Amino acid sequence: MKNILLKILIGLLILSIGVFTKFYFDEIHFSKMNFVHKFIFERVIDEWEEEMLVMNSHERNLVDYNSLLSLLGTIERSLVERLFEINPIDLGFKGKFFSKDTPDNLVKIESVKLLRKNKPYQTGIQYLPSHVNNDYEIMMLEMEKEIGKKLFIDSGFRSAGRQAYLFVFYLVRSNDFSLRENAKWIAMPGYSEHGSAENTAIDFVNIDGINGINESETAEDFERLEEYEWLIKNASRFNFYLSYPRGNKYGVSFEPWHWHWERR
Ligand SMILES: [Zn+2]
Repeated sequence: MKNILLKILIGLLILSIGVFTKFYFDEIHFSKMNFVHKFIFERVIDEWEEEMLVMNSHERNLVDYNSLLSLLGTIERSLVERLFEINPIDLGFKGKFFSKDTPDNLVKIESVKLLRKNKPYQTGIQYLPSHVNNDYEIMMLEMEKEIGKKLFIDSGFRSAGRQAYLFVFYLVRSNDFSLRENAKWIAMPGYSEHGSAENTAIDFVNIDGINGINESETAEDFERLEEYEWLIKNASRFNFYLSYPRGNKYGVSFEPWHWHWERR
């Protein structure tokens, strides 16, 4: 009797390993990911989130891609590498490749404490290349002079590692493991304007914590702001341009908060 039970158990074990292996080596599906891939990406984001929590807040936006990979086991690491070998064009993203390097002229911007519906909200420590930061500061002085309001930096420069973390984070937590859906909202490492050393993007947030992306908000909430209206009329004078208007050619959703620097 014991023998039979043992054989059944061994049989089940071999079967599970077989099933796991089969699905693991299966290609990563763009819309509906298989359950083994889902399970592994969940573990990846758990481990990365833990690391982000213990990391000094000034390091989070500049985290190195390879050190994130080194936190993972072999199976997880190789799946993440396979994920980022996918060409984002195949996911419907039509933007260009910028860079995976971190520039050496970054300026550190201290975290700003805001109040969102009576709850404190911190922007976190941000970074911008000096030429982008200079124009941002001049632009805000002008905005304050004209309408008595200013915008804060919700997200500035992000390293390839930070971008990889965010890509997997939104894939698992917000977009139900659909790579196609995820690619509409967040770029792969190297393809984000937030990772561009020259044409760096800023995501803005206003003094009331409105950024158009927190749980209770939509893009229209940001679009309605007087600050946004001012940007539309004036930002180009300071070398800032709206990257993703409605129906943009890049396959990215409308992002009224996201403006990039460009010398035209
Ligand atoms: Zn952005």
